[in-house]
Amino acid sequence: MSKIIASAAIRGAHKLVRQAEESLAKAIAAKGKDAKIEYPNTAYYLPIMLLFLGQKVEKLGDLEESLQEARKLLHPEPSDELWLPYLGDALDSGVATLLAEETIEVLKYQNGSNPVNGIWLGFTDDAILRLQGIKLVDGRMPGFAAIVGCTKTNQEAVDLVRGLQERNILVFIAGNSNGRSIAEQLAEERIEMSWDTFLVPYGKDITAAVHALNFAARSAMTFGGVAPGDLKAARAILLYNKERVHAFVLALGDDPGVPKDQVITDEKYATAAGAINFGFPVISNVNIPEILPSGICTYEHVVANVPVAEIITRSVEVRGLHIKVEKVPIPVPYGAGFEGERVRKEDMFCQFGGKFTDAFELVRMKPIDQIEDGKVEVIGPEVDQMQEGQAYPLGIVVEVAGRKFQEDFESVVERRVHEYISCANGIFHMGQRSIIWVRIHKDAKAKGFQVKHFGSILVTKIHNDFSSILDRVQVKIYTDAAKIKAPMEEAKKVYSHRDDRIAGMTDEDVDEFYSCALCQSYAPNHVCIVTPERLGLCGAYTWLDCKASHQIDKHGPNEPVAKGECLEPVKGQWKNVNDYISIKSHGNLERFNAYSILEEPMTSCGCFECIAAIVPEANGVMIVDREYPNMTPVGMKFSTLAGQIGGGTQTPGFVGIGKLYISSAKFIAAEGGVERLVWMPKALKEEVGDRLKARLAKIGKEDLFDKIATEENAETPDKLVEFLTQVNHPALSLAPLV
Ligand code: SF4
Ligand code: ZN
Repeated sequence: MSKIIASAAIRGAHKLVRQAEESLAKAIAAKGKDAKIEYPNTAYYLPIMLLFLGQKVEKLGDLEESLQEARKLLHPEPSDELWLPYLGDALDSGVATLLAEETIEVLKYQNGSNPVNGIWLGFTDDAILRLQGIKLVDGRMPGFAAIVGCTKTNQEAVDLVRGLQERNILVFIAGNSNGRSIAEQLAEERIEMSWDTFLVPYGKDITAAVHALNFAARSAMTFGGVAPGDLKAARAILLYNKERVHAFVLALGDDPGVPKDQVITDEKYATAAGAINFGFPVISNVNIPEILPSGICTYEHVVANVPVAEIITRSVEVRGLHIKVEKVPIPVPYGAGFEGERVRKEDMFCQFGGKFTDAFELVRMKPIDQIEDGKVEVIGPEVDQMQEGQAYPLGIVVEVAGRKFQEDFESVVERRVHEYISCANGIFHMGQRSIIWVRIHKDAKAKGFQVKHFGSILVTKIHNDFSSILDRVQVKIYTDAAKIKAPMEEAKKVYSHRDDRIAGMTDEDVDEFYSCALCQSYAPNHVCIVTPERLGLCGAYTWLDCKASHQIDKHGPNEPVAKGECLEPVKGQWKNVNDYISIKSHGNLERFNAYSILEEPMTSCGCFECIAAIVPEANGVMIVDREYPNMTPVGMKFSTLAGQIGGGTQTPGFVGIGKLYISSAKFIAAEGGVERLVWMPKALKEEVGDRLKARLAKIGKEDLFDKIATEENAETPDKLVEFLTQVNHPALSLAPLV
C-alpha cells in the first residue's frame, strides 16, 4: 500500500466529512431535523447508507447518525511521514467518504443547488436502473467506466468515449480537473449525452461520483437479491459488485497548466478508495502511486501513467472485461452505445419513412439456391443522388436460408433489425415492419455512409448472431417510389399471416415451454418459464424467441422444458415445470402457478416491464409500468413496489409481468382474468390499447376498456372504488379476492 495514497485518502475523507457536516448543519438550521430527505424515485432510501449502515434515512436528523458513523471510520489525519502498510485505513476512509458524499449530494435535492441542471443528470432513479440493468444482465453492456476529470484536448475526449461506446461500456462522468470536466468537452463537440447513448454525466463535483457507486449498490440489491442490513450483507453486496459488475474508474488529469502531481486531489484519492471497496480499480493517465493486488481484489487497485490513447485497452485487461468488438464494414463507428442516439432535424442529411414516405423492413426465408450470400442490392437512388433535407422511400428485404431455419424465426431475426441499424453512429432508426422511420446524419453522409451500408450491417450482424441457424443472407433495398409498392404489399401480407399464427398459439398447443436463465448472472436463483401466452417478465423474450435462441445455442440460457402432467389447469401448474424450477432455483422454489397473482406466483428477478398488484379495496388488480413515476392506488410507487418483489422471491399479491401478457388470454386466469383489471397508467393503457381491445372484443367485453381507471380517474383506493362503482366495473361483483 502506498503511503501517499493512504495519507491523501485519509485527508480527503476528513475534508469531505467536514463538508457534509457543514451542509447538513445548514439544512437542519433551515428546515429542522424532521424535514424529509430523499432521492427521487427509489426504494433504497439513500443507497450508500443502506448498504454500509443498514440505515433507512428518511429525515434530515437521520443523516446526523450517518455522519457520526462516518466519523468513527476516520483515522487520524496523517503527517507526511506516516507509514501505512495496509490498505485497511484507506478503505475505511473510502467508506467514510462515500457516506459523506451521499449526504452532500442528496442535500442538493433539498437546498436548491439543483443537481439536474444543463448537461448534468444527477441521481439515477430505480426505473432507469432496471431498464439498463437488463443490458448488464444479457451482456449487451460488459460493464461501466466512471470518468473523473478531463483530457488535454476535446478530440482526445471524443476518441475516448467513442472507444468506450464502441465496446458498449456504459460511461459515468463526475468531477472535474482544475474546473474542467470531460462532459463539458463532449458538450462542446456536440456529443449527445444521455442514458440512451451510454454517456451519463452525473455532476461536476467529485462528490457526484457517489452516484456511480449507489447505482452499483442498488444493482446488487435489485438483481442480486441481496438484502441490506448488516456487515455481512454489505460484504455480500461488495463482493457481488466485484464479481458481477465489471466497473472501473478512469482518473484523468491532463489539463495544461496544472502540475501532474497535483491533478489528483485528496478528495479524489478518498473517492478512489471508496471505489476500491467495491472492487473497482482506478486507472489513470497521471503519475500516481500504483497499488498492487491484495485483499478483495485479485487485480491491481491503481494503475498509473497509462496514456489516454491506451487507457481503454489497459482497463479492459485489468478488469478482465469480455468484449466482442465486431467489425462492421461501414464508414462510421458502430456499437451499442450509439443505439439510442437521435438525429435532430437540423443535423439530418435525409430521412426515410415516418409519416413522409413508404418504408418497411422484412426478413424472409428463401430456398438456398435463390440466395447469393453477402449480396446487397440497392433498387433506386443512393445517398449521393439524394437531396439534403428530403425524404425517400426505404424498403429493406432481408432474405435468409439455412438448413435449420424455420419460418417462425423470421420475426425473431426481423426484430433485431432495429438494434442492428441503430448501432451505427449517425443513423437513427425507429419502429418496425411498415412503420419504420430512419434518418442519416450529415456527418455520416460526409464520412461516406450509403444506403447499401444498411445491407452491409445486416449481413454482418445476422451472420454473427444467427450463424448456427442460417447459412446465407442477402439484402435488397428499395429507394425507388414506384418499385417499392409491390414488395411492400407483399410484406404486409406476411405480417398479417404471422400475426394470425402467433395470436392463435396457446399454451395448450405446445408440449414444451422454454426456460430463460439469462438473469441468473444477476439474480442467481431466478428462472423465467416462458410460454406462448406468457412472455418473459422483462418483455424481451417470447416463447418463439426462446425457441430460436435454443436452436442457435443448445447450451445457451434457454432450454426446452417439457410440461409433463398438468396439475392445475386454471392456475397453470405442471409437474415437470415444477421439477425443473426446483433444480434451477437451487431448491429455493418448489412450484409456481403461471397464471396466478395470489397463489404461488412466478418469481421476479428485477427487470420486469410492469408490476401487477392486488388492490383489496377494489377487489381487483392494478398494473404499473416502470415508466410511471407517480403514486398508484396501492399507496406505493413503482420503485417501492419493485423493491418488494425483486431478487427471485415469490410475493403473493404481486407479480412482475411483460406488457404483452396484459392482453393474453392467460392473464391472471386463476383470479378471473382481465375482468379484475381496475387501474393502469394512462400512457400504458394507450400503449397496450389495440391489443387489449382486441382481446376484450374476443370475449365480448368491449365496454370494459373504458371502465379501467387511470391516474386521471383515481390515485387512491377510495377514489378508485368510487370510480369503479360509477362505471359499474365487473371486478366489484366478482368473488372476493382476499
Ligand atoms: Fe431475465 Fe426472464 Fe427476461 Fe430471461 S425472460 S432475460 S430470465 S427476465
Ligand atoms: Zn431479469
